Amino acid sequence: MKIIDTHTHLYGKDFAADLPDVVRRAKEAGVVAALLPNLNAASLPDLHAATALAPDFFYSMIGMHPTEMGEEWQKDLELLHLELLAHPARYIAIGEIGLDYYWSMDEKEAMNSAFRTQLTWARDSRLPVSIHSRSATMDAVTAIEEIGADAIRGVFHSFTDSPEELMAILRLPHFMVGVNGVLTFKNSILRDFLPDLLPLDRLVIETDAPYLSPVPNRGKRNEPANLLYVIDELAKCYRLPREKVAQQVFANSVEMFALK
Ligand SMILES: [Zn+2]
Repeated sequence: MKIIDTHTHLYGKDFAADLPDVVRRAKEAGVVAALLPNLNAASLPDLHAATALAPDFFYSMIGMHPTEMGEEWQKDLELLHLELLAHPARYIAIGEIGLDYYWSMDEKEAMNSAFRTQLTWARDSRLPVSIHSRSATMDAVTAIEEIGADAIRGVFHSFTDSPEELMAILRLPHFMVGVNGVLTFKNSILRDFLPDLLPLDRLVIETDAPYLSPVPNRGKRNEPANLLYVIDELAKCYRLPREKVAQQVFANSVEMFALK
């Protein structure tokens, strides 16, 4: 079984002490690649350091997270763009980018502006996007349609929205949905509607580590080896053998992120 963690924050302080062990456990579980979303200009050195540690395993994204913008966001956005233009081969995706109305509505305008700018990078570079959207999925879909739904592909990562929002995402021709440990939570409503509404060929999996550890490790630091629990839960939901689920989800990830 081959697994790709399509969204995981394995660089930085949460994993500074034992990253090689985390990677070893991931590989033992069948994880062959981990895609690292960037947060802002300041996180780039940590991102590059982690990628250098295991260049055959880690793949970097570049982008600015909507809740990590700061005062100097316009300047930082420019820095990130120059980095992307100078080193396009370093990055497999634009991420994570998006809108977050859950934490703050004050920044709504700035978030929308930064998001649209970064969508144009994706369109122009033909790289996929990893989208963070919290209480803002309909606006995120609108932004993608504005910048060009035919020319942008990507993943709405950590999907926890309603069926209505899922259908809006699926109407975008080149988008998939990222499912993580939330699917295994007792109170999650995802297992009630995902099998009916989300075709398996539009689904990828992720940890969003260090957050959202699946049951039975809920509450602990998450890591890629835990994706086996997410695959088990998907197999139950979709009533398919776990190997079949793993195979399809792996193929989706390879296609979406143009991995070799
Ligand atoms: Zn993330």
